Amino acid sequence: MADKVGGAFPAAGRRLAPPQEDAEPGTGRPRSLRINSLFSEDELIEDYYDAPPANSGSDAGAVATSASCGAGAPGDAVQGPDAAGQLSPIIKAGWLDKNPPQGSYIYQKRWVKLDADYLRYFDSEKDAYSKRFIPVSSISRIASVGDQKFEVITNNRNFVFRAESDADRNEWIRMLQQITEERKSKALERMSMLQTINGTMDLVDKSGFLELRGFKNKLFVAVAGDKVFLYKNSEDYRLGIGITYIEMNVGNVKEVDRRGFDLTTPYRIFSFSADSDQEKEEWVAAMQQSIAAALSTSEVAEKIWAVEPNRFCADCGSPKPDWASINLCVVICKRCAGEHRGLGPSISKVRSLKMDRKVWTEELIELFRRAGNAVANRFWAANVPPSEDITPGSGSEERRRFLVAKYREGKYRRYHPLFGNQEELDRALCAAVTTADLAETQALLFCGAAVSCATGDPACPTPLALAERSGQRLQMEFLLHNRTSETPRLEVGSGGEKHYSALLPSVAHHGFLYKTPSMAKPVGERKGLEEFSRRWCTLHDGVFSYYESDRNAVPNGEIKAEEIVCLVHNPPRAHGIESTFEVYVESERLYLFGLDSPEAVREWLKSLAKCFVPPHAEELLSHDFERIGRLHYKGGLNLERAQEGWFALAGSTLHVCFGEGDREEPLQLRKLQELSIQGDNEVLVLVERRRTLYIQGERKLDFLGWVQAIQKAAGSAGDTLSEQQLTEADVPLLVDRCIDYITQCGLTSEGIYRKSGQNSKTTGLLEMLRKDARSVRLKEGEHQVDDVSNTLKRFFRDLGDGLFTKRWSQDWLRATALEEEEARISEYRRLLSILPAVNRATLKALINHLFRVQRFSGDNQMNTHNLAIVFGPTLFQTDGKDYKAGRVVEDLINHYVKIFNVNDQEMKKQQDEITAIMKMREAASSGTQQAGDFICTVYLEEKKTEAEQHVKIPATMTAEELTFEILDRRKIVMKEKDYWSCFEVNEREEAERPLHYSEKVLPILHSLGTESYLVVKKQMSMENMLLYLASRVGDCKHGMMKFREERNLLGLGVSTGFHDRYFILNHSCLRLYKEVRSLKQRTPPLESSHKPEKEWPIRNLKVYLGIKKKLRPPTCWGFTVFYENEKHEKQQWYLCCDTQADLREWFATFLHAQNGGAVWPSESCKVRASRPQPDSRLGNVSLIPLRGNESDMRSSVAAFATDPLTLLRNV
Ligand SMILES: [Zn+2]
Repeated sequence: MADKVGGAFPAAGRRLAPPQEDAEPGTGRPRSLRINSLFSEDELIEDYYDAPPANSGSDAGAVATSASCGAGAPGDAVQGPDAAGQLSPIIKAGWLDKNPPQGSYIYQKRWVKLDADYLRYFDSEKDAYSKRFIPVSSISRIASVGDQKFEVITNNRNFVFRAESDADRNEWIRMLQQITEERKSKALERMSMLQTINGTMDLVDKSGFLELRGFKNKLFVAVAGDKVFLYKNSEDYRLGIGITYIEMNVGNVKEVDRRGFDLTTPYRIFSFSADSDQEKEEWVAAMQQSIAAALSTSEVAEKIWAVEPNRFCADCGSPKPDWASINLCVVICKRCAGEHRGLGPSISKVRSLKMDRKVWTEELIELFRRAGNAVANRFWAANVPPSEDITPGSGSEERRRFLVAKYREGKYRRYHPLFGNQEELDRALCAAVTTADLAETQALLFCGAAVSCATGDPACPTPLALAERSGQRLQMEFLLHNRTSETPRLEVGSGGEKHYSALLPSVAHHGFLYKTPSMAKPVGERKGLEEFSRRWCTLHDGVFSYYESDRNAVPNGEIKAEEIVCLVHNPPRAHGIESTFEVYVESERLYLFGLDSPEAVREWLKSLAKCFVPPHAEELLSHDFERIGRLHYKGGLNLERAQEGWFALAGSTLHVCFGEGDREEPLQLRKLQELSIQGDNEVLVLVERRRTLYIQGERKLDFLGWVQAIQKAAGSAGDTLSEQQLTEADVPLLVDRCIDYITQCGLTSEGIYRKSGQNSKTTGLLEMLRKDARSVRLKEGEHQVDDVSNTLKRFFRDLGDGLFTKRWSQDWLRATALEEEEARISEYRRLLSILPAVNRATLKALINHLFRVQRFSGDNQMNTHNLAIVFGPTLFQTDGKDYKAGRVVEDLINHYVKIFNVNDQEMKKQQDEITAIMKMREAASSGTQQAGDFICTVYLEEKKTEAEQHVKIPATMTAEELTFEILDRRKIVMKEKDYWSCFEVNEREEAERPLHYSEKVLPILHSLGTESYLVVKKQMSMENMLLYLASRVGDCKHGMMKFREERNLLGLGVSTGFHDRYFILNHSCLRLYKEVRSLKQRTPPLESSHKPEKEWPIRNLKVYLGIKKKLRPPTCWGFTVFYENEKHEKQQWYLCCDTQADLREWFATFLHAQNGGAVWPSESCKVRASRPQPDSRLGNVSLIPLRGNESDMRSSVAAFATDPLTLLRNV
């Protein structure tokens, strides 16, 4: 726990070298000090030798090297680390104070450097090797924490730094945010895996523990690519947070003795020792390979950098750019390279100078030396207005804008004099490639000359062949890399990003259509035929045009395909024309077209859809959609940014294409758990089990149409089973709601299902449930058992096609004639297997329910026979004159386990559930409280309708599981130090209590009064409480609190107000002392010597945070405490603390004492935090199968109920 709350490293008192010594540049001081100053800070003191090691050959060398480095000119030292250690340019560097390790108050001055890959800190700006590196990829958040401080938050550790001023702090935050944001939004990881070995262990050539002289404990060392990384231990290695890394282009490996070897760099000698000589050989080989790799790669860079302009990014000017665009012939920095990638390979082919070794042929290197940044920028950046130029510090957005303008649009280009004259350009190109004038070739090519234009020379038909004949190798190289390059095109009104880059197939279609004037509002009422005018319409080259007639050459109007956002196929005869459709465009207008031929309209729809739906979403076109288009959505774990997706609604299924490369996914709208609108018609929330999709109203007009259509499709469509809103298990929600209610409230109700209830209430309820069962909550008190039971019967009786279906119901009835039980059962099983899935699931759910009801026949007088009498005719929709129908039901109940293949586990679970219900009901009937619902309303963060979640609470569910359930539904990721908890809020008492994570929710639910509710939110004080608990001595707390008792005398509430009292809280009880003075004299108080005025065992206390304001508590830091002993004697009183910290400490002590020290789940928390993150897109995650048979479903639900983490682990 200490580790968790204590930041990077635990334990105290581990500063080694005094700061003064640190500050002194190395003037031949003993080597151990130098080592310590490199790595000391956060390490345990035991990690180090106390004294410098005895001198040996290598040691002497180390001193010499270190000394020579230190003695060199300061300029050398500063330049040294940059030249050797760092190929990636520094984005920001400066002095910061790093927060002290635990147990110390002294901030440590650190030289901090940020580049595109790492945040590192050093003892001084002269140091080559960091004390700590944090990969940018592992940073999840940067937070400002006041006092010029900021916090760098990684998945597992947080680092706090303090800047010299707010401005400096903000600048650091800005840069860090920018760089981590870029990292997240780019697939740069793929390009730079060698730099961040974190999580990509397969790139590591060798890793393991090695002794490093100067360190008591072995370090974890990893050789990866051209670097060697040092970690404190393997855990750190896994997390990616290390001490330092060594760029091997300056390294040299030397074997020393049987197990020892030295890695020498100009700044330091690392003396390693392996476990065995064989191990040593492997390490030496791996490091030598790494050096070779580093040399060969930096070789390319060095050669290219030898030409001055190539030493700075062609786009932003960052020094030492180690990426290149091989067709544009520019050397660029890593951040620009990321944006170049975004331009696509037809604009820029991005390669690394260091990693893409094979690409760098002698010719290409030579081409870059001859042409490179100087030549390229003379052409590409001939006219850059200073206001649009970028610098090394520019943000991703700015960079992108600039690079799009520069290379895709060619906005700043120097136009070739022949620009616009294709023939001349081509001819000039053919001439240029035979000379050494690369600049000319470049200018011609990017001003429109065709790279494979006809030369008119049969021997050399292409410019490439001409170049070859002329022996122009560099021209050939240049042409080769630009074979597929696009010519820049300055688009009018550019800046608006294209929605997709792939070219749409050219679709052509034409014919007459009827059209109304376009509208800016939804088509409210039916349009009569007279409102339509006949227009000649054409669809050609992505433009839909309508003309007065087919003889007109100038269209009345045009709609560009890329402006279309939605296409709607109206139901037949919605207007005065048989078949109509609507076209919605970006500018929030809609066009209504129609024809009397539905087939012709379908043709139009297909053609139109084809020309505006991008190829990756083409699958959507295969559905008989009533609505298709693009919308912004958020989903999965990626909730920060809305993305564009393509949606098609067909029947009750919403088909979605989330992105390029994804297959479409169907969402069964009738199975949604929740469908709601957030904000002022801004966001449509669709909740399926375990996944949530937010569709955003980017544009009002088409969005409202979508909302209505989706709402309609998510409702019940008719009176057959499959047209109802369904549960995941394919049972109509209506049936599920009724069964749930009866199970909770009606199992012991006499004559259940036999009594008929009130007709009007039944009718009303049935109507409500049919309309939208999802939004109906049946509650005891509001609804009568008999009304609900009658509603269920009525539903089945009126069901279109019946539960057993018209086709098969006679077979079911005939089966009763089979005398032999076994034969009958197997016939039922056969018939069951051929029922439609929804009917089968519903029948099982119902019979399961009746099976439970008859188990209470002692109370409810409804044995199997009685139930069969009622349900037979209901389910078979017969008049009940013969008992065949009843017989079937009776058989199904009697042989429920066999016919429905119910396993023991399932039975046991049901048994447990029933036991829990009965216990609750007994408890409820003995007290005054009402039985709560099995389905319970839990709020997320605060009590308001939008935050409502309706959760089914199984008897086994713990508060922690409930919290997970709510967070999962809303796709909230629990981060480190987010202490999400479930709170019981008592509105009347104005107090709340965080439930202990292991507390069972159901009993709490049943004891909640009407003024109470559950809310899941972060427990803000948890971190401080854990810190307090970890740091305190002993497990008891004592001190003054203000105490107020509520005495109930003869029904009169008498109170004497708040008074100072002395309290002692230990692991078993809370004691109150009136006499303060005598106690104050002794510290700690001797508990035995004084008899407390009052004493309560803590197991009988329930402590709530807060006191109702009516009592006018003296401070705002108070508790409300409920006491109830085994004899059900109750007391209620209040405690007030002087400070918030005091309150926190008392409360923490309470929690600690009441839960045997387990205040927060350390284990499960870790499991949860480290669980592989499900794919960010919707639908790839389904912890509970969305389909499959019921028993699969049940067993996985059961498994989830007992241990939600087993499922999470399997993801
Ligand atoms: Zn750059």
